[in-house]
Amino acid sequence: ASVRSVTILGATGSIGDSTMDLIRAAPERYKVEALTANSNVEGIVKLAKEFNARFVAVADESKGAELRAALAGTGIETGAGESAVTEAAARPADWVMAAVSGAAGLKPALAAVDRGATVALANKECLVCAGDFFMDRAAKAGACILPADSEHNALFQALASGSRDELTRVIITASGGPFRTWKAEDIEQATLAQALKHPNWSMGQKITIDSASMMNKGLEVIEASYLFALSSDEIDVLVHPQSIIHGMVEFTDMSVVAQLGSPDMRTPIAHCLGWPNRISKGRAAPLDLAKIGSLTFEAPDYARFPGLKLAYDALRTGSGATTVYNAANEIAVAAFIAGKIRFGAIARLVEATMNGWVRAGNLAPLSSADDAISVDHKARKLAASLLPEIAA
Ligand code: NDP
Ligand code: MG
Repeated sequence: ASVRSVTILGATGSIGDSTMDLIRAAPERYKVEALTANSNVEGIVKLAKEFNARFVAVADESKGAELRAALAGTGIETGAGESAVTEAAARPADWVMAAVSGAAGLKPALAAVDRGATVALANKECLVCAGDFFMDRAAKAGACILPADSEHNALFQALASGSRDELTRVIITASGGPFRTWKAEDIEQATLAQALKHPNWSMGQKITIDSASMMNKGLEVIEASYLFALSSDEIDVLVHPQSIIHGMVEFTDMSVVAQLGSPDMRTPIAHCLGWPNRISKGRAAPLDLAKIGSLTFEAPDYARFPGLKLAYDALRTGSGATTVYNAANEIAVAAFIAGKIRFGAIARLVEATMNGWVRAGNLAPLSSADDAISVDHKARKLAASLLPEIAA
């Protein structure tokens, strides 16, 4: 097999870590072109040396000198600042993992898309922000988008059993998070430590909080809509506490095709890394259904998890509403982490921001990264201005 050159954006994060682990398992197959982080110089330097990367960038400009000093004499090029992360994505690698967290991942992901790379997309926020044009732009550039998010990767695999006109709906599963069985009053008061205790998946901090609020599933409904060109009524969410079935596709004959796997991100990432072939599992755990015993399912509860319903509203509204949904959620999660708002206020801030946005007459279709980033910034400002009222 030929050597694949790879770039990992967000290499020091949770998805980055799983990706590096798969590459580590078969080092002869990959050549690392570029690695990026935000500010974790120590982590990125360690990876750069281990994998002999050609280029390393940190988004935090103030860390540039430290990065340069740490890699002096290694022959590894360095860069710092937002543009350096985009430059890393633009360098010629066959395969790019887009695993920056948040809307900050949009420009770098687009840089990889525009040069027609194969892009494993973990960064769901970037698709939610730029859904209006992201997939079109990928098609125009001849880029191949492979969903790394476990549910979407499952749908991608299941969709191969039929054609688009034979599809009747897709189902993405949700673990239900740590508050699945909690009463609304208790969810309202949940602490940061409680929100960070995910029952099945080990993930970065922001997405773990989004799982507890089910905003993550909301982002994923939007992600599925844009990725696969599905309308909101073609996408269902099903609570499945064991997180073994990740996604299912129902076809016109009522056959339902599912993808299963242990809750380990290395499995969907391995699918993206090997695509169109299958690679070895590395250290990912095999699935032992006899040991698991039973798989259970529940309907999602929009009353206790209003953030999920808001995602459907945003999707139906369109014209930047999903960008606003994401931006408001990023502000809300940061405020919750900082102890400024209660857990239950996350969805209220998102709702208030979306309503304020519509009332101000700000809805308009997005056609470029600048449009998406401008809506993102304005929506963050609006969300921040509504914070005191929501916190009270
Ligand atoms: P982490 O917080 O663990 O890692 C984020 C990575 O992005 C780190 O390398 C971080 O660098 C870097 N980063 C953060 N902010 C910036 C910025 N402003 N500019 C450039 N780089 C930045 O996140 P996860 O790995 O959990 O998630 C990454 C993406 O994948 C998210 O969009 C998430 O929704 C998605 N995803 C994650 C899953 C998971 O299991 N973790 C599952 C499915 C999707 P540094 O280390 O220096 O802070
Ligand atoms: Mg997911």
